[in-house]
Amino acid sequence: MARTAYFWDSSSLDHNTGRHVECIARAERLHPDRMRERAPGIDHRPILAHGAEELILRVHDAEYLEFVSTAHENGFRALDRGDTRISAGSYRAALNAVDAAATAADGVMSGAYETAFCAMRPPSHHALPFQAMGFCLFSTPSILARYLQARHGLGRVAILDWDVHHGNGTQYIFWEDPDVFFLSLHQHPLYPGSGLEDETGEGPGKGATLNLTFLPGTEEADYLARFEAQAVPALLAFEPEFIILSAGFDAHCDDPLGELRLTPEGFARMTRCVKEAAAQSCGGRMVSLLEGGYNLDALESSVGAHLVGLCSD
Ligand SMILES: [Zn+2]
Repeated sequence: MARTAYFWDSSSLDHNTGRHVECIARAERLHPDRMRERAPGIDHRPILAHGAEELILRVHDAEYLEFVSTAHENGFRALDRGDTRISAGSYRAALNAVDAAATAADGVMSGAYETAFCAMRPPSHHALPFQAMGFCLFSTPSILARYLQARHGLGRVAILDWDVHHGNGTQYIFWEDPDVFFLSLHQHPLYPGSGLEDETGEGPGKGATLNLTFLPGTEEADYLARFEAQAVPALLAFEPEFIILSAGFDAHCDDPLGELRLTPEGFARMTRCVKEAAAQSCGGRMVSLLEGGYNLDALESSVGAHLVGLCSD
């Protein structure tokens, strides 16, 4: 049995954003052949159709889905205020990212493999139910949480987001939901500006959102110390039945959009921590989804380190 499934699909190459940091080359760098050289234990698996549009409607408004599905043919070349570019293949790529997440979760739930990483574009954690934002079309981690609850009957799902930017879309979706714990570590101040530490959810969701902010220039050792002292215990205290990782790699020290100081070794260490937390709380069940990471060399080496961590005992 292969331990770590790897989902990568050529549709990610059809989301053509042109000269942009969130570019096709990101997917090229994460081709399974390249990643297998760094993490020989991964098993590249096919993505199975799950009716992505129906899954998306559990999180996103029907009007928004309709808008995105027809945006390119209606002449739009960007959504949002212009930083979320689209091409003819973008919609299909985004649907495939959702199908990949659902396929990955099915395999983890059935025990076909222990963990999975979805190296899909476009990213997802800024997308709102009614609006694209920050290179993101659909909120794949949120859609996956709802899928796990509906299809697999799970109750409590945790979403851990270590992208350097705050996962404002995911936070928005689960703001009043006590059953989905959203935990974000991010640089502040930085785009999109939300995610202050006093943002902890509302109503029944009070306490099910946790934001840990880091000043620009924070060193890796300080970041990792807080990760282990605060993030991991909070994750365990929630007692999740499944952990979804919104894995951006733009907290890397060479990333052009962030100013944190992480290295691939840091990502590997955090990966092992999350894996251990999943083992303690939910039989090891976790799926990791690619978010940001915009220095191509840093992205490739960091994802490689992440995969090595996922494959480790
Ligand atoms: Zn990011």
